[in-house]
Amino acid sequence: MKIVALAGGIGGARFLRGLLAAAPEAEITVIGNTGDDISLFGLRVCPDLDTVMYTLGGGINEEQGWGRAEETFTVKEELAAYGVGPGWFGLGDRDFATHIVRTQMLAAGYRLSAVTEALCDRWRPGVRLLPMTDDQVETHVVVEDEQGRRAIHFQEWWVRMRASVPALSIAAVGAAESAPAPGVQAAIEAADVVLFPPSNPVVSIGTILAVPGIRDAVAAKTVVGVSPIVGGAPVRGMADACLTAIGVETSARAVAEHYGLGLLDGWLVDEADADVRVEGIEVRSRPLLMRDAETTAAIARAALDLAVELKRAGVAE
Ligand code: GDP
Ligand code: CA
Repeated sequence: MKIVALAGGIGGARFLRGLLAAAPEAEITVIGNTGDDISLFGLRVCPDLDTVMYTLGGGINEEQGWGRAEETFTVKEELAAYGVGPGWFGLGDRDFATHIVRTQMLAAGYRLSAVTEALCDRWRPGVRLLPMTDDQVETHVVVEDEQGRRAIHFQEWWVRMRASVPALSIAAVGAAESAPAPGVQAAIEAADVVLFPPSNPVVSIGTILAVPGIRDAVAAKTVVGVSPIVGGAPVRGMADACLTAIGVETSARAVAEHYGLGLLDGWLVDEADADVRVEGIEVRSRPLLMRDAETTAAIARAALDLAVELKRAGVAE
């Protein structure tokens, strides 16, 4: 069984851990979001790729969901002592090493996909992790506050402002001119099924789908998604602020309709949303809180079972 999953950070990574447990024999390719990537202190940081890599490789800070376990912050303190910021983006000492290796390899001319493969040689995540593109794509957010209307990097809005200022619009800068990373299209074409973990529909899955070619390749497949919205709110984080920015209501039904029946064949919603119906999409309800290894594996199993069932029924390739 060949499975392709599109993934953002925490929601994606935790779901993938469940998928590995639910389908240990499967060949899993993960297409990671790079729209959150940012250059800090001269280093290229890829938060979503790293969250997937650390989570599946056993190096994640479990409570936090991102960053390294047993982390220290000496470098950050020393930078602050020089008055060098930003201080709002948490980079620990162990994490810094990853970004140094990445930046060094990129400067030597390696593409991000090759760098990611090299980093995964250490972490052995058990999946093939591909960035959506080797080209630079950065999510920017237009906000308006005392300083006027301006576009800022997604991380500044998300991490520094905690999305407290409404986003007037969200753009994946560079996406239209980007190309899928080597292996991405082939993996989708070869996949038996494609899964959307409960990742952010706008700035994680939406950004991956904005890379020309990916949406069409995915749409030709049997696709099942897991709702990140439960009972009208994100399970964690501020995905509602992103959905509002693109004019989509924060509900499991509205997110499925936003993906649309041209893309999604099946949709898993939480039991709290058991009454959700979406024309043309097979909706099933299950407990969708990834509380522990067992509940997470059960969610992944349910998504995979639904995909296999729909594929057999011949809804898509
Ligand atoms: P990020 O890049 O770290 O923001 O992570 P993702 O884009 O992969 O995932 C963020 C989404 O995961 C949020 O919208 C959450 O609502 C969702 N999420 C987090 N934990 C859970 C969970 O236990 N169950 C479900 N259904 N969604 C979750
Ligand atoms: Ca992210």
